[in-house]
Amino acid sequence: MNVKELDGKYVANTYKRFPVEIVSGKGASLTDEAGKKYIDMGAGIAVNTFGMADDEWIGAVTAQLAKFQHTSNLYYTEPCAKLAKMLCERTGMKNVFFSNSGAEANECAIKAAREYGITKKGEEYYNIITLENSFHGRTMATLSATGQAVFHEHFGPMLAGFIHTPANDCEALEKAVAENKVCAIMFECVQGEGGVMPLTKEFVAKIFELAKKYDLVTIADEVQTGNGRTGKLYAYMNFDNIVPDIVSTAKGLAAGLPMGATLFGEKTADIYKPGMHGSTFGGNPVCAAGAVNVISRLTEDFLSEVSAKAEYIKNALEGAKGIKTVSGMGLMIGLETEKEAAQVVAEAMERGVLLLTAKKKVRLLPPLSITFEEIKKAVEVIKEVCA
Ligand SMILES: *Cc1c(COP(=O)(O)O)cnc(C)c1O
Repeated sequence: MNVKELDGKYVANTYKRFPVEIVSGKGASLTDEAGKKYIDMGAGIAVNTFGMADDEWIGAVTAQLAKFQHTSNLYYTEPCAKLAKMLCERTGMKNVFFSNSGAEANECAIKAAREYGITKKGEEYYNIITLENSFHGRTMATLSATGQAVFHEHFGPMLAGFIHTPANDCEALEKAVAENKVCAIMFECVQGEGGVMPLTKEFVAKIFELAKKYDLVTIADEVQTGNGRTGKLYAYMNFDNIVPDIVSTAKGLAAGLPMGATLFGEKTADIYKPGMHGSTFGGNPVCAAGAVNVISRLTEDFLSEVSAKAEYIKNALEGAKGIKTVSGMGLMIGLETEKEAAQVVAEAMERGVLLLTAKKKVRLLPPLSITFEEIKKAVEVIKEVCA
């Protein structure tokens, strides 16, 4: 049996895969089993920050791998401590919990928010407001937090304590906070899986106004928007005068190795005490070494390049034939197309460009290191296919 047949027979049937096996890559260029080349506009779903096989990142990761690969959290290791310092210095947050995925980073945030509400305000203050069309993960708690019924089907009762209100509806949010015993509001600055929909400035300001008034924990789910994706280190930095109490992130953090992080600010930094939370693999030194390399390279210059690339794509696609709207922030771009999104993706793949979808939209999440030349080629193909 070939790889596709083996996978079909022996891998659990949870993914609808494209009929492509990736065998190698460099930067934003991928090669399949037949030797066909693609421009990658998905980056493993916003994970491969510097694309495939980035030399500097490989150097950082393999140097650590050759020293030791894991110690458990019973011992100190340098990459983990260094990474936490970098994240805190770049954000003003106070400390960090490391895990292995976005869902786990959010689990950690959810537990912390509940502890805060229950201890500070009373036993019933465990409710967390999340937004309709949000996506927070696939574990039972993060699934319950996710404001999309389609993900809840088949899995029995959801975990209690999540209230979903419509994104960008200040009145509904105000009402939900006033009428329930709430400990936190959790949001994505740009709803990724929900269709690349940014929150409005007014709505984000309202979240923080209500959090102040009712003493709530604000949780920015930056699993997809984080680590340079929107042209800032974290997407909340695109909004004026807000600092979340908790920032969760994962996807692009270690540029392709599994790593989640939950960053705690002043208000939340002392919630966890020894024994309250943990992870066997969390803070793995090899992954942390990869993340140290990522964060150190997301300089202001690099981030302004990301914004310039995003501007170019947006300008090139806005108003193009067959493209109804362009949404998003930085290199997180959603296209509402006249053709069905799946059709656009299939035709682009045929022509050597790999795209993603999000709900009914075409979604672009290229490696942040993609070159202008690659962008130009990909944009031409997208325009041809959409027209
Ligand atoms: C992908 C994603 C998650 C889940 O991350 P996993 O690593 O798949 O667990 C959570 N929140 C957001 C916003 C995401 O985009």
